[in-house]
Amino acid sequence: MELLLVEDDTAFGGALRDGLVLDGHRVQWQRGAAGVAALLAAARFDAVVLDLGLPDGDGRALLQALRAGGDTTPVVVLSGRGQTADRVSLLDDGADDYLVKPVDLAELTARVRAVRRRAGLVPEMLRHGTIALDPRRRRVTLQGREVVLREREFSLLAIFLHEPLRLFTRAELESRLYGAETAAVSNAVEVHLHFLRRKFGRELFVTVRGAGYRLGPPPAAA
Ligand code: CA
Repeated sequence: MELLLVEDDTAFGGALRDGLVLDGHRVQWQRGAAGVAALLAAARFDAVVLDLGLPDGDGRALLQALRAGGDTTPVVVLSGRGQTADRVSLLDDGADDYLVKPVDLAELTARVRAVRRRAGLVPEMLRHGTIALDPRRRRVTLQGREVVLREREFSLLAIFLHEPLRLFTRAELESRLYGAETAAVSNAVEVHLHFLRRKFGRELFVTVRGAGYRLGPPPAAA
């Protein structure tokens, strides 16, 4: 789930990073072109979000060098220039997708999810003991039998199963479920957890007082 964000502008980069984190990614933020190739050689990233206008180098040259070196990490380019020829040549240079500034965060996160999906990086099935969640068909089974979930219950369960060892604060869960409009739904996370516990057993979510929630043991096989 780790993304490499290459963006020199502090305010813009910070907003992009926050939006991507809220969408469930771990984000490493690099402020310029220097070091990007070494990072990609050293670790595997799910995708790169690359600003073309960097103070210490041309993002396009960086992209060309990566592809020439055989790196196939999906790259979503942020371009300040929107001419058709420019877009075509970006794709020819090996970009998987591009967005023209100003960038809409919801669109960026959707594009990143799409390139990861195309790269086969969305798991076929998330499993937690007796529970299996199919992200593509949005189906959940318990011991092979389908459990009917509401939309937000499904999303909440998926957030936990994607990162089964993580502790989530209520605020993070709220913003991942509802975006910015969290004031109106202050106990919504508890309500969804309550219904998920009724469907999968009390132990499935552990409440860590003052800190948040993490995944507990799945229901035992009957
Ligand atoms: Ca820039």
